[in-house]
Amino acid sequence: MNDPLQTGALVSKDSPRQRFVLEETGFDEVPVKYRRFYRRWQGPGDSLAPNEVLCPVCKVVIRSTRELRPGDRVYCMPCMSRLVVAVGAEGRLEARVAY
Ligand SMILES: [Zn+2]
Repeated sequence: MNDPLQTGALVSKDSPRQRFVLEETGFDEVPVKYRRFYRRWQGPGDSLAPNEVLCPVCKVVIRSTRELRPGDRVYCMPCMSRLVVAVGAEGRLEARVAY
């Protein structure tokens, strides 16, 4: 499993996470087998699904097969950033760089 969501988050006492089937997105900046885990952000008219979060570094949308929650650690392969999911000012999930 090469999901950007780091697997430790899946072994928790939280309620079960909704699962998502990822389709090919045409994202071509990573090897073929990872392409479905990323897509380009389409700008202000775009919106994020519960399994998606925007990378603040390269502005690529990171997609997991699982619903994302605050505190999750995700990996952005296009820019090799390690990120933590948090609740942003507008109440939406956003990713922050993990140091
Ligand atoms: Zn990135």
